[in-house]
Amino acid sequence: MFANIIVDITHEKLDKIFQYRVPSRLAGELSVGMEVFVPFGKWNRQTKGYVVGFSETCDYDLSKVKEIADISRDGIAIEGKLVALAAWMKEQYGGTMIQALKTVLPIKQKENAKMKKRIRLLLDKDTGKKKLDYYLEKNQKARARLLAALLDEPVLEYELVSKKLNITLSVIRALEEQGVIALEEERVFRNPVRGKEQEARTITFTEEQQHAIDVFREDYEQKRYGTYLVHGVTGSGKTEVYIEMIRRVADSGRQAIVLIPEIALTFQTVMRFYRCFGDRVSIMNSRLSAGERYDQLMRAKSGEVDVMIGPRSALFTPFPNLGLIVIDEEHENTYKSEQTPRYHARETAEARAKMEGASVVLGSATPSMESMYRARLGEYRLLELKKRSREQEMADVYVTDLREELKNGNRSILSEKLQELMEDRLNRHEQIMLFLNRRGYAGFISCRECGYVVKCPHCDVSLSFHRGGKMVCHYCGHEEAKPNVCPECGSRHIGEFKAGTQQIEDIVKRRFPEARVLRMDMDTTREKDGHEKILAAFANEEADVLVGTQMIVKGHDFPNVTLVGVLAADMSLYSDDYRAGERTFQLLTQAVGRAGRGEKKGEAVIQTYSPEHYAVVTAAAQDYAAFYEEEIQYRSLMGYPPVENLLAVFASGKDEAHLETGCRYLKEYAKRVCQADPSSPVEIIGPASPGIGKINDVYRKVLYLKTERYDTLVKIKNRLEQYIEVNSGFNTIRIQFDFNPMNVF
Ligand code: ADP
Ligand code: ZN
Ligand code: ZN
Repeated sequence: MFANIIVDITHEKLDKIFQYRVPSRLAGELSVGMEVFVPFGKWNRQTKGYVVGFSETCDYDLSKVKEIADISRDGIAIEGKLVALAAWMKEQYGGTMIQALKTVLPIKQKENAKMKKRIRLLLDKDTGKKKLDYYLEKNQKARARLLAALLDEPVLEYELVSKKLNITLSVIRALEEQGVIALEEERVFRNPVRGKEQEARTITFTEEQQHAIDVFREDYEQKRYGTYLVHGVTGSGKTEVYIEMIRRVADSGRQAIVLIPEIALTFQTVMRFYRCFGDRVSIMNSRLSAGERYDQLMRAKSGEVDVMIGPRSALFTPFPNLGLIVIDEEHENTYKSEQTPRYHARETAEARAKMEGASVVLGSATPSMESMYRARLGEYRLLELKKRSREQEMADVYVTDLREELKNGNRSILSEKLQELMEDRLNRHEQIMLFLNRRGYAGFISCRECGYVVKCPHCDVSLSFHRGGKMVCHYCGHEEAKPNVCPECGSRHIGEFKAGTQQIEDIVKRRFPEARVLRMDMDTTREKDGHEKILAAFANEEADVLVGTQMIVKGHDFPNVTLVGVLAADMSLYSDDYRAGERTFQLLTQAVGRAGRGEKKGEAVIQTYSPEHYAVVTAAAQDYAAFYEEEIQYRSLMGYPPVENLLAVFASGKDEAHLETGCRYLKEYAKRVCQADPSSPVEIIGPASPGIGKINDVYRKVLYLKTERYDTLVKIKNRLEQYIEVNSGFNTIRIQFDFNPMNVF
C-alpha cells in the first residue's frame, strides 16, 4: 500500500504528489488528510506532509520508494472532504497544493485550553433593574449598557463584553467594586455565553420574509440544493430569515456555517444567534487564541455544535454533515483572500456546497455585481425584502455640489447645507458622523472648479498620479504628464485630490468650537483596542461628532446618530479601478444607512464634485436596481467582470531588467497558448506597473488576461505554471495569480 503525500514545502518545483510506502504498523490508522513525517530529499530530512490519497500501485522505481516515518501526533488532520476542496481551490486560483491545504486548515497544531475571564451578575433581577434606572438617570451609558446585557444574560464572557459591547476594564472594575458584578476566571469556558434556555421566539414574519423562508424550505425538503440571493435593505430582517433557514437545516440533523465580516460581527448579532441556538452555536474570530480556535474546531467536528459564525476562514469548519452556508454582507471585499490561493469565499462556498449537497444563502442590501448578475441569469434564486420590518423610515438624502460651493465662495470642506444641519444636531444633542471616503487614495487628478477628472484614453479608469509628475494607467500602462491647467475649463485649480481625517477634525473644531470631536483612522487606532475604545466613547455619547474613514460606516449601530455627512464621495469614484462605481455605491448606501437607526429619523449629506454620476444619484435615491442597470452596461461594454473574466498575473523580483524580460516571455507564451484555442479569444494587457511599482526593492509588474470564459483562464494559468516550472529564468521571479481581482494595484 502506498500513500500520496504533499510535502510541507512551498515551492513550485516541489508541488507534486510524492509516493511513500505505508508501514504496516501505521496501516490501520492512516487516513486522508492526516499530517505525517516523511524522510525527504537527498539527506532524508524529516519533513512534514499531508496524506492526500492512497494507491495500490506505485509509479516510481520501487527500490527508491521511502517509507512514512510516523503520524504527526500534535498535527491536526484535514477532513477528507476539505482535501478535495483544497484541490479545487488550487485548480481554480493557482498556487501550490500545500498552500491550498493550509488554507482549508486554519489551525495547524493541537493546543491546550487557556484560562478565560467571565463576568457574572450578582444582583437579582429587581435590584438590577433599579440599578439600571439609576445609571440611566446619571447618564452613565457604559455601565447601563453592560448591566442591561447582563440582565438579559447573567454570565458573559469578558472578551465579548470588552470587544463587542465596547466596555472598558475600568468600567468593569467600578461595577465590581460596587458589588454589582464579579469578574471570574475559569478553565476553558467554551462558549462565550453561558448555556441558557432557548427562548421561544415571538416574531411574526413579514410576507416577504415568510416567502423567502418558504421557498428555501420547500427546496430543502425536496433536496434541491442551490444558491439563493437575499436582497434586502438594512433592517428588512435578513438575519431573522437566515436564522429560520438554519433552524430548518439543524432540525434535519445537519450543520450551518454563517460568514459575517469581522467588523460586522457585533455583540447584538452574536446574541441573536445564541438566543435561538444556545449552546449549539460557536463563534470564530481573529481575536480568539489558537487554543480557543482549536477547541471550536474540535467541537464542530464532533457534532457538538450546529452553527459556526465567523469571518472568511470559518468557511472551512469541518462539520460532519454540512447543510447550509450563509454569507451575510456578501458584497464585502474581505471575502476575497489576498494570499495565495486568492480564493473568493462566495465561489468556494458554492464549490463546497456542491461537493457536500448543501445550499448557499447570500445576503446583502447592496449585492455585488457578480451575485446580482448570476441571479439575473437564473443561476441564483433571488429573494427580495423590500420593506423594513419595523417600518422605520429611510433617511432623507441631500446631495451638495462642491463646484457650486466653490463658486459661492465657500472654500471649506463642509458645505453650507452640512454646516447648517450640524448646527441643528449639536443644538439638539444628537450625534453626527462625518465620513471621509478614502478608498481611492492613490491620488487621481481633478479640477476643483469643474470637477473634471483625468482618465485613461484606453480604459475608462482614472489615471493615478505618481511622484515626479507622471500620470499612469494601472491597467494598460498608458502614461502622460500632469496638466497644469484644466483641459476642460482652463482653471489652474487642478491637482491631486487630498484631504485627511486630521484636517477635517481641525476644521470641525474651528467651525464648532463647542463640539466634542472624535477621530477614527489609521493613526488613532494604532494602539491595541484603539478601534474599540473610540467606538465605545462614541456609543457612550462622550462625543458629538465622529470623523473617520470607511471604518466607521460598517456594522455599528448608534441610535443617537441622526446626521451623516459624506465629505468627498468622489474619492472612491475615481480610484483607478473598474469596481470604483460599485464600491462608491455600496459605501454611500451604507453611510446613508447609518443615519436614523433609532427612533428618530435621520438625514444624510453627500458632498461631491460629480452629483450627476450614476453611483451618486442612485445611492442618494437608494435605488439599487437603477445602479445595477447602469453599472452592468459599463462592465459589459468594457468587458470587465462579471460579464467577462479577468486574470491578473503578478510578477515580482529584485532585478528590474530581468523581471521585464520575464514578463515579456510570459506574455509571448500566453499569446501562443491563446492562439492555439481560437474558440475563446483572450485579450492580453500589459505588462503594466501596478500602483506601487516597487516595495522593499522588489519590483512588481502585472499582466492582465481578459476573456469570456473562466475555464479558459484556468487552462492558461495551468500552462503558465508549467512554463514557469521548467524555465530556470523564473527561479528569481515570483508569480502570483489573481482571478477577478478586487483591487487592481
Ligand atoms: P437586516 O439583517 O436585514 O439588517 P435584521 O434581521 O437585523 O435586518 O432586522 C432588523 C431589526 O428588525 C431587528 O431588530 C430584528 O429583530 C427586527 N425584525 C426583523 N424581522 C422582524 C419581524 N418580522 N417583526 C418584528 N421585528 C423584526
Ligand atoms: Zn476644470
Ligand atoms: Zn489604460
